Amino acid sequence: MTLKERDKKHLWHPLTQHKLHPHTIAISKAKGCTLTDEDGNNYIDAIASWYTSMYGHCNPYITNRVAEQMQVLDQVVFTGFTHEPAIKLSEALCKILPENQTKLFFSDNGSTAVEIGIKMALQYHSNKSQKRNVLVAFEHGFHGDTLGAMSVSGLSVYNGPFAEFLMDVKRIPTPDDTNHDMVLDHLRKLALEFDIAAFVYEPLVQGAAAMKMHDAEGLDQILKFCNEFGIITVADEVMTGFGKTGKYFASDYMETKPDIICLSKALTGGLMPMAITSCSQKIYDAFYSDEMDKGLFHGHTYSANPLACTAALACIELLTSEDIQTNIKHITERHQDFGERIKSHPKVASIRQKGIIFAMELDVENERYGNLRDTLYNHFMEHGVYLRPLGNTIYIQAAYVISDAELDKVYEVIEGALEIV
Ligand SMILES: *Cc1c(COP(=O)(O)O)cnc(C)c1O
Repeated sequence: MTLKERDKKHLWHPLTQHKLHPHTIAISKAKGCTLTDEDGNNYIDAIASWYTSMYGHCNPYITNRVAEQMQVLDQVVFTGFTHEPAIKLSEALCKILPENQTKLFFSDNGSTAVEIGIKMALQYHSNKSQKRNVLVAFEHGFHGDTLGAMSVSGLSVYNGPFAEFLMDVKRIPTPDDTNHDMVLDHLRKLALEFDIAAFVYEPLVQGAAAMKMHDAEGLDQILKFCNEFGIITVADEVMTGFGKTGKYFASDYMETKPDIICLSKALTGGLMPMAITSCSQKIYDAFYSDEMDKGLFHGHTYSANPLACTAALACIELLTSEDIQTNIKHITERHQDFGERIKSHPKVASIRQKGIIFAMELDVENERYGNLRDTLYNHFMEHGVYLRPLGNTIYIQAAYVISDAELDKVYEVIEGALEIV
């Protein structure tokens, strides 16, 4: 039996309606930007396996370091103990994070990073005896699949069955270059009517909303307003972090820095699951007390796993290297050229780009929309490129090490797809 046949017996895949999508592809190896399936077919991983493997799959710079660390210290409790990989990582990460971020709290995935950000914000107010119990988030945001993270997410297809169990969250529209005053008015009204604890947002690019992009100046005004009103700002940089937008973090585009930042995905370059919620000294100080119960009593068994910390440190060394920074600029320029070339194609409604994140919305008839995603996906896979369209949007978010030839192929296959929709 093939792997994909044996898979069906016991495995339940994430985000999958198995009755409608019974087929899986068994991937047997990955190297650089290439995924290879059990039949020997190769696919260019043009979304870096959900934007994690940004330095290429099985990058020896990362895997060798982790292999060495494995011989020395594999796992240890992070309550009461500490270790060099976590300490070195904290020093390296705090050098590149926005300068107000001074403390790091570890967990295992993007959703828990957000969950912890929300809990930090809520307990911050509670520790200061302030009654604040409402959250604010952008429309159409995505922050993960645990209950707190789901609450601030605004995509109903994920959240429908759980709606009545979620936290109290008010929504504001994302800022564009026409609506700054309207968005601020909306927020001001909410702030007057409710006791708002925190604003949770994806800075500049909303990933699951099909790479919807918004305006840095408008976001900066929102963040300033939150600061004035004592609303804790929680930037979910799980997707945008570590160079994707052209700066180390999307928050680097705004003058006003968030109180809390959530990180995962590219943090470990796809090698191990890990997440970090960072915060400013102001947040940490609200928990630092002679009273036991003012501490943050949240913890995960694998917090700051030494192997994951080692992977993350190696990734930061790569990210800050001249080679990777040059590649980021080069891919950004190549995407711009590609955008210029296809923007007037009759099937292209619009193009969006921030750094190496490139998205194009297709202009297609409504009745065909339902099958559009599957048609596109199948076309891409048949032509050896792994892309996962979101609705009528095709996006690229490939590793920083993708070659020109591989990029050419990705562009070519996308252009081919425009002829079949
Ligand atoms: C992927 C993602 C999450 C959730 O991370 P998981 O590791 O899948 O739990 C949260 N926020 C954003 C912006 C993401 O892209």
